[in-house]
Amino acid sequence: KGDIADRIAQRLKLAKPKPVVHAVDSVDLSIRQGEVLGLVGESGCGKSTLGRVVAGILPPSEGDLYWKGSDRSRLSFADLKAADLATQMIFQNPMAALNPRMTVEDIVTEAPHSHGMIPGDRRAYADRYLEMAGFDPAMKRRYPHQFSGGQRQRVNIARALAVQPEFLVCDESVAALDVSIQAQVINLFMDLREQLDLTYLFVSHDLGVVEHISDRVAIMYLGRIVEEAPVEEVYARPNHPYTRALLSEVPRIEVGKRKFEAIKGELPSPLDPPKGCHFHPRCPFAMDRCRSEVPKIREVASGHRSACHLNDG
Ligand code: SF4
Ligand code: MG
Repeated sequence: KGDIADRIAQRLKLAKPKPVVHAVDSVDLSIRQGEVLGLVGESGCGKSTLGRVVAGILPPSEGDLYWKGSDRSRLSFADLKAADLATQMIFQNPMAALNPRMTVEDIVTEAPHSHGMIPGDRRAYADRYLEMAGFDPAMKRRYPHQFSGGQRQRVNIARALAVQPEFLVCDESVAALDVSIQAQVINLFMDLREQLDLTYLFVSHDLGVVEHISDRVAIMYLGRIVEEAPVEEVYARPNHPYTRALLSEVPRIEVGKRKFEAIKGELPSPLDPPKGCHFHPRCPFAMDRCRSEVPKIREVASGHRSACHLNDG
């Protein structure tokens, strides 16, 4: 009997409503065809959530998501399927995305085969995309666990490329790799962009990585975009105090390894973010109004937007 009571209690516990976390809050972001947009922030700031929303994996609870000028929620079934194929995500942990019971060849060709995209020989198709991702096709009959993290990420990239995407959403795609391998995979992403005319959303906690690969950068803090500008502009003329704090701690050019730990104070809980400007408890310039009034993001120079009351001058 105790057993049943326990199980009921367990159920009730499971059924208890979870707190509603607005991981992402009034974000207005556009990504232009052919560009690489870097999305930067500390872990827990909502950037992965935003990446999933942009990729169409997670529907926005409010607001709209447009794909090539059309509201995604109004696309026909066929157009939605095409949009989903054209958008591929590449995550931090490639092993999680790779079926351990399938050979590399099958992994790479599974989706395009099921969509009738492979005109001729499935093996030749696998070779083509593995080569593109810098993975030796001679090894394609092996299984994911037989490879290093870097090789597995290449398989994962080949698998994404094999459905002929236009848009890649990379969420910390190089974060788990050794620094030397990170540089190789970043170079691969840049080569692929040239070859295949790809558009990227590149989500990372690492400003060094983002600087290397992006045309434009958006900085996120506790669910909001606080600054957005062309990459040179962000690094030469950062506007937002949060961005400035990040940059002062990140030595330039180093790809990989630098993190944000040195910023004063802990990242507040996203469950209960500070009122007004979310950054005020950590901001050296915080004023009274910062504690109550949310700063609007607005243009501070051409193509450069920032959300800080200091700009109201
Ligand atoms: Fe700092 Fe206020 Fe600007 Fe927020 S709005 S970044 S607290 S000065
Ligand atoms: Mg994340």
